[in-house]
Amino acid sequence: MMKVAHSRLPQRSEIPKSPKSRLPATFSELGVSSTIQNALKTLSIHTPTEIQSVCIPPLLAGRDCIGNAKTGSGKTLAFALPIIQKLSADPYGIFALVLTPTRELAFQISEQFAVVGNAINVRTAVIVGGMDMMAQALELGNRPHIVIATPGRMVDHLKSSGSGEWNLSRVKFLVLDEADRLLSSSFVPELSYLFDVLPKERQTCLFTATLTPSIENVANAPPRPGKQKPFIRRM
Ligand code: ADP
Ligand code: MG
Repeated sequence: MMKVAHSRLPQRSEIPKSPKSRLPATFSELGVSSTIQNALKTLSIHTPTEIQSVCIPPLLAGRDCIGNAKTGSGKTLAFALPIIQKLSADPYGIFALVLTPTRELAFQISEQFAVVGNAINVRTAVIVGGMDMMAQALELGNRPHIVIATPGRMVDHLKSSGSGEWNLSRVKFLVLDEADRLLSSSFVPELSYLFDVLPKERQTCLFTATLTPSIENVANAPPRPGKQKPFIRRM
């Protein structure tokens, strides 16, 4: 029997499922500003990683996002670049709160914000346990744009500050980094305190190396009225 020509076309099941081949290959294609691209070049960062290619466009577009990728895959810049880019349009008050489970992670995240954000005078404050409360209170009063914090110490500052020098009422962007650990039971009281204080109108993103049931619960929760479901990237 004669074979018809189209039978040589690959069947759907044979088409390689590599999403990489279709991903934007440059920061410019992702919509990252030239100012930020130049800052990245000075760090010899020229090509986005996969999680960056997938998550930066929806975050720039204002969507919530759940990003799941293994350790070392560049998750920090996947949220830091959209935050820095959006911040330039809204420089008043604390714009972003980044929560992370440990002091060490908070300082690592802060370094990445600094190397990209210094060129455009982004001010960050690191608010973590085991360090001087007074010095941190001064930092919070120094009009930071981005606060990187462990949940417990952030709550301590909210409970003890009566001065009105700073508040979280203008936060537009909440990040739960290492969200699997943050959503584990030990952080629940602090997180619910923070969720009560934070404005409801904001973008929220979760980044994690492991998709735990508590993250799946967030992913599957019905969105608030008028809000899209979060964009989800599973590993
Ligand atoms: P994760 O949070 O996924 O564990 P990090 O965000 O800490 O990973 O990134 C790991 C390292 O990769 C950091 O040193 C960071 O500077 C570097 N990095 C991030 N994005 C890129 C990129 N696009 N190209 C090269 N290096 C990158
Ligand atoms: Mg990380």
